[in-house]
Amino acid sequence: MQKYNPEQAMWEVRREFGEHGGVTPSISRSSTFTVMDPCIMPEIFEGLRGPDKNGCFLYSRHFNPTLDVLSRYLAAMEGTEAAVCTASGMAAISCTLLQLCEYGDHIVSSDTVYGGTHALLRELLPKMGIKTTFVDPTEPQRFEAAITGKTRVLYTETIGNPTLKVADIPALSKLAHTHHLKLVVDNTFSPVIASPAVLGADVVVHSMTKFINGASDAIAGVICADREFVYRLMDLHTGRIMLLGPTMDPRVAFDIIQRLPHLAVRMREHGARAMIVASRLKELGLKVTYPGLPSHPQYRLMSRIINQGYGYGGMLTIDCQSRPKAEELMDVLQNEERFGLIAVSLGYYDTLMSCSGSSTSSEVPPEDQHKIGLSPGLLRISMGLTGNITARVEQIERAVKKVGLV
Ligand SMILES: *Cc1c(COP(=O)(O)O)cnc(C)c1O
Repeated sequence: MQKYNPEQAMWEVRREFGEHGGVTPSISRSSTFTVMDPCIMPEIFEGLRGPDKNGCFLYSRHFNPTLDVLSRYLAAMEGTEAAVCTASGMAAISCTLLQLCEYGDHIVSSDTVYGGTHALLRELLPKMGIKTTFVDPTEPQRFEAAITGKTRVLYTETIGNPTLKVADIPALSKLAHTHHLKLVVDNTFSPVIASPAVLGADVVVHSMTKFINGASDAIAGVICADREFVYRLMDLHTGRIMLLGPTMDPRVAFDIIQRLPHLAVRMREHGARAMIVASRLKELGLKVTYPGLPSHPQYRLMSRIINQGYGYGGMLTIDCQSRPKAEELMDVLQNEERFGLIAVSLGYYDTLMSCSGSSTSSEVPPEDQHKIGLSPGLLRISMGLTGNITARVEQIERAVKKVGLV
């Protein structure tokens, strides 16, 4: 059992008071920063000074005081030396991969990743000379078999979107390091629950748009890694974040800082409720997938890699066999039972549901969808934490019976 405690680690980092001693940090909105002595500016460009070297800020696409506060909390949560916030999860993923790979390089990726990531790896990066081989994330030996002399990165999600396959991060880390590669893990589905860097990942990325922010009112991302990699991303002359420019707004950073204190509480509640709903649907005989059910193929692996006391996450799927059946169920759940909302995304306080094959994973070609076990009737549910759980279970039971799934 994993011993890391991300919840505690987050609150042991240096506290940042706001102006006038405020208990909340201040929002630093300045785009540029004054130097008191002209000889300081060249020193910043030479990398001799920076926010953690004599407290020098330069320009907010580089480092910003409010973003730095959020970054410190997130680095502590993931157990990395440093972190850098980005304007979206996709910015975190694309800047990481473009920093680690150049023309001619190769990536071995899980075949069950977020649709946007899949499209980046399959369509855009090959045009820049970076090729990807997709493999089943549950079998580390498939990653090994796909490694070539050009491979630079192994890429996976802790819990794969949308099939909820769990990656063996310790095994992938060992494999990556044996071959001198970097292991990059997208931990969007399992903040606090899993700590990939503690398990051996080199870089952990998140779409903070989801559980971390938790209110579906911001698009945001983060890259957590060692200080050297973060500084490379932010290098004034060559850093991919500096040159591509996906900067987070300090106001967004402040909003997320204010929601971090209840992230662990929320993750526990999402997980407890998802477990109750998944167990009940399983009892009724539905084809439900949830990493907390002993019937999940990687249940034992998942139990081994997660941090104790935060549950198994808020994501579950129901295979409704066909897309019309999945749509009928969503319609009843939203419009008759008021159980949740038909919407993409996840990690909101209300339940969100979508039919992945024809929405967020529609970038994945149909033959590949079949191969990775993504049925056209796969209904993905991000279990919310509102309402009374007993009443919620009754709502979903009535709905699955009404549409004839049981
Ligand atoms: C949503 C999502 C992303 C993309 O994040 P954005 O914030 O929308 O750019 C990446 N990975 C996973 C697993 C996601 O769910």
